[in-house]
Amino acid sequence: MITLALSKGRIFDETLPLLAAAGIEVLEDPEKSRKLILPTNQADVRVVLVRATDVPTYVAYGGADVGVTGKDTLLEHGGGGLFQPLDLQIAKCRVSVAVHNDFDYAQAVQRGARLRVATKYTTIAREFFARKGVHVDLIKLYGSMELAPLTGMADAIVDLVSTGNTLKANNLKEVEHIIDISSHLVVNQASLKLKQERLRRIIHAFAQGVDARNAA
Ligand code: AMP
Repeated sequence: MITLALSKGRIFDETLPLLAAAGIEVLEDPEKSRKLILPTNQADVRVVLVRATDVPTYVAYGGADVGVTGKDTLLEHGGGGLFQPLDLQIAKCRVSVAVHNDFDYAQAVQRGARLRVATKYTTIAREFFARKGVHVDLIKLYGSMELAPLTGMADAIVDLVSTGNTLKANNLKEVEHIIDISSHLVVNQASLKLKQERLRRIIHAFAQGVDARNAA
């Protein structure tokens, strides 16, 4: 049995065509079903639905053989115990620093101010500001980062940005582009040895699916 860990939403939706390229069709709609384990048309492949941030953990500990997860989540997780064979180039966005429209970020950085930064990406933020030589107090949040500068709780946020519409709607502006993000295939290292042939075929089909989509 091959167990594939996916999170609902954008990653699930954008992984479906790649699964199809591997001849795998998920037989239930996760938005309609309450099931956490979904069967596929292949008797030896099943999908488990987990929180996006839990995908690397499920795969690293062998709860799933393979998974699809954002680079942001992988960087925060650290990637230990995971083989990362393929950038699927889906769910693309970026991790950025944003501040309130009225906040002079460049000046604050220039005069060496200590910034309060709210984020769920504490590892990415810590490394980024350390490299820049900017002192920060990190405030860990689990959602609605945009609210932190609006309430005066933080000077800046580090968050995912795609179109920039969410920032704009909340009177925030992007001031630093930290890293481009897309989703990656991750594989449990023990599974790769024990189920090598089946997993290699799936990885190969996913790679072909990515190439075919890019060529279209
Ligand atoms: P946007 O308004 O298009 O810039 O999207 C920003 C919002 O969508 C933020 O709340 C992000 O956390 C979320 N977001 C954008 N891209 C992604 C992605 N690839 N995966 C998960 N969340 C995302």
